[in-house]
Amino acid sequence: MRHAALCSFLLFAADPYLKARLSMVQENLESRGIRDRRVLEAIRTTPRHEYVPPELRAHAYEDRPLPIGYNQTISQPYIVGLMTQLLETQPANSVLEIGTGSGYQAAVLSKLAKHVYSIEIVPELAASSAKTLLRTGCRNVTVRYGDGYKGWPEQAPFDRIILTAAPPEIPPALIDQLKPGGKLVAPEGDREQLLMAIEKSASGQISKRSVIPVIFVPMVRGTSDK
Ligand code: SAH
Repeated sequence: MRHAALCSFLLFAADPYLKARLSMVQENLESRGIRDRRVLEAIRTTPRHEYVPPELRAHAYEDRPLPIGYNQTISQPYIVGLMTQLLETQPANSVLEIGTGSGYQAAVLSKLAKHVYSIEIVPELAASSAKTLLRTGCRNVTVRYGDGYKGWPEQAPFDRIILTAAPPEIPPALIDQLKPGGKLVAPEGDREQLLMAIEKSASGQISKRSVIPVIFVPMVRGTSDK
């Protein structure tokens, strides 16, 4: 008992947000149907407060999106949990993320995959998220500034693809860069968006199902140099 108490004292002293993070996982994810143990553990061990602006740290473990500058937001924790669970990432997987933003979703995925490649269209966010990811010890994430509509042909194909900005329709280049047997999770639509779970069969056939209505920032179109 004394040893356990000392251990939890040391853990809480090292991370003052640990308690808030563990309650968030229990109250907003587990109790709402996020059951994948690996996903829950990845979220329990990812310091969301490191990915929000310093003045918003006190709100980092509330179940809501928060502004990260440049008119962008870090997604709501429940939605991160849901999308990560739908993706069913395996340890050997190579994952492509479109919309790095703060880097938080990439950090969660980095604990579940072999490597995460993430593309961000706002250069300042690409630079700051790459720094945060390094600072928090996520070494298997590569961030690139660019236009996600084109995907990342040099690193394709991917086992898993996740979009955290909503295109009107899933970009064909991303479907092409998905491996047979691969999965893609994305919000899709203009004003009314649905979270879509897409699978590519071993023979290359695409199946698509909608999961729930969601609200994401739009996936913007880049200029030709991106
Ligand atoms: N996954 C992020 C969520 C960021 S919000 C996180 O965990 O914080 C969505 C991000 O998508 C924004 O940063 C936005 O700039 C980016 N984005 C929008 N359109 C894009 C595009 N065409 N290519 C790449 N990124 C894009």
